[in-house]
Amino acid sequence: METKEFHYRAYRPRPFTKEERSKTTILFGGLTWKHERLIQGSLERVGYKSMPLPNIERQDLDIGKEFIDVGACCPTTFTAGNLARTLMTLREREGEEGVKNNYLFVTIGACGPCRFGQYHESYERVLEGLNLTDFRLFLLDLMQMEQSAPGGGLEISMPLTFGLVYSMFYADLITDMEYAIRPYEVVEGSTDRVVKESIELLYEKLKNRPIKGKKIDSLVWHVFTGYFVDALKEVRRLWDEIEVDRLRVKPKVKITGEFWLQTHEGDGNYNIKRWLEKEGAEVIPPPVAVWMDYLINMELFKLEDAKGFVKRYYLKKLAIGTIASLYRMVYNRLRRALNNIPNPLPDQRKLKDLARPYFYYRLTGGEGHMLIGKALYAYLNRQAHMICELSPYGCLPNTMSVGAMAKVLGDYPDLLYAPIEIKGDAEVHAYSRCQMILTEAKRRAKEEFEEVLERTGLTVEDIRNFEEDHPELRRATYKVPHYGYAGTASNYVMHIAKLMGRI
Ligand code: SF4
Repeated sequence: METKEFHYRAYRPRPFTKEERSKTTILFGGLTWKHERLIQGSLERVGYKSMPLPNIERQDLDIGKEFIDVGACCPTTFTAGNLARTLMTLREREGEEGVKNNYLFVTIGACGPCRFGQYHESYERVLEGLNLTDFRLFLLDLMQMEQSAPGGGLEISMPLTFGLVYSMFYADLITDMEYAIRPYEVVEGSTDRVVKESIELLYEKLKNRPIKGKKIDSLVWHVFTGYFVDALKEVRRLWDEIEVDRLRVKPKVKITGEFWLQTHEGDGNYNIKRWLEKEGAEVIPPPVAVWMDYLINMELFKLEDAKGFVKRYYLKKLAIGTIASLYRMVYNRLRRALNNIPNPLPDQRKLKDLARPYFYYRLTGGEGHMLIGKALYAYLNRQAHMICELSPYGCLPNTMSVGAMAKVLGDYPDLLYAPIEIKGDAEVHAYSRCQMILTEAKRRAKEEFEEVLERTGLTVEDIRNFEEDHPELRRATYKVPHYGYAGTASNYVMHIAKLMGRI
C-alpha cells in the first residue's frame, strides 16, 4: 500500500505589496457596527480600501462548527463562521481568484492563556476548509503602535494607530450615550436615528482628519488637538434634540463578562442588551476602551511587582504611567464634549484591589480579575441594581472568574448577579435565567424610587410642573449628577429636589 508523507506547514500569507493597496480591500470585524464604521474611516484616511465583515448572525455558529474544532469557545466559533460566510459570498460573486487577489483579512492577536492567541489558527482552518489557502490573512499585535505585514502593503503607522484609538473612543462614547438615553426617549426611534447620524458624522471626521507628522509629532498632535473634541461638540448638538423622560423607573443592569461577548451587539450574545431594554431595563454597556486601559495598567502592575529586578525602574514606571495618564486624559476630554453623559473609565487600581481577595490579578485571560472588580465596583458605588455577566461556552478563563464569584456572592449576598452561559443556540435558557434576577432588580428600583420621593417630599406631579418651567431638564444632554442611588429616576428626583432647594 502506498503511504504518503505528511509534513505540517505553518500558514504563511502571500505578501501584500504597496502597489496592490489601491485595488485590495481589507476585511476586518469582531466589534460593533459603530466601531467598525469608524475604523473604516480611519483606514480610508491613510489610503486603504476596507470593508467590515457583516454583523454576526446565528448561522455563523453552525458554519463555524463545520470548520473548526468542536471544543472551541463560542466567540471563536462565531467569528470563524462569520469569516467563512463572508468568503463564500465573495467567492460566489467574484470567483476564487477574485477573493484571493482582491481581498485580505486582518485580525489582531495577543498571547495569553486563552483562545484569543489562537483565533488565527481557527481562521486558517476556515481557509483550508474552503480551499482558499492562498487567501491572505494577517495577524497584528494588539500592543504595537507601529508594525507591518510581509510585502509592505500593510503598515500600521502612528497616524493610523491613533486614528484607530479615536475610532474606538468615539464608538464607545456614542454607545454609552445610546444606552443611557434610549430607555427614556419620548419619541421612539429618535435615539437610534441620532446614533446613526453621529456615527456618519464622525466617520467623515476620521476620514478627513489632518495627518500631522509621523512619529512623536503625530503623538503630540493627537493628544492635544481640539479637532476630535470639536467633532463631538457637533455630535452633541444632534443629541440635544432628543427629548427624554427620566421619571421612568427602570432597573440599571451592568454588563460584564468575556470581552467579545460583552461588547457584541447581535445574535452572538442573543442580543441581550436590546432584550434587557425591551424588558424595561437600562443597560450600562462595557466600553472597549476599558480593556485597553486594563492592558496598559497590567504592564505597570507587573513592573511594580518586579521593582527590585528591573533596571531603570523609575524611568520605565514614568513612561508607562504617562501613557496610562494620557489615555485617560484624552478619554475624559472627549466625555466632557458630550457633557460627561458617558461613564468614566473605572480606576484600574481600584478594580485590582477590590478583586484581590478573590482573584489574583496575574491570572490573566478573558477579563481576568476585572470581572470581579467591576461587579463589586458597581455594587459598592451603587452604579447598578444588577450585574449581567456573559460567559462563553468553552471558555476556561471565564470559568475561573465565575467560580471565584461564588465566594464574592457569599460575602455580598445582596449583590444581584446573573451569570449567563452563552452557547449561541440556547437563548430561551439565557433569557429565563436573566429574567429571574431582573424581576428582583425591578423591585429594588421601584422601592428605591419610592424612598427618594418620601425623602424629598416630592410627588411626580411636582416634578412634572417643575419640568414645564425648565424644559432643558428633558434634554438628552442634560447631566444628572449621581446622588448615591443606582436608578436614573431616583437620582433625577434628588436633583430636582436640590434645584428646588428641598435638600
Ligand atoms: S476569553 Fe474565553 S471566550 Fe474569550 S477568546 Fe479567550 S477562551 Fe475564548
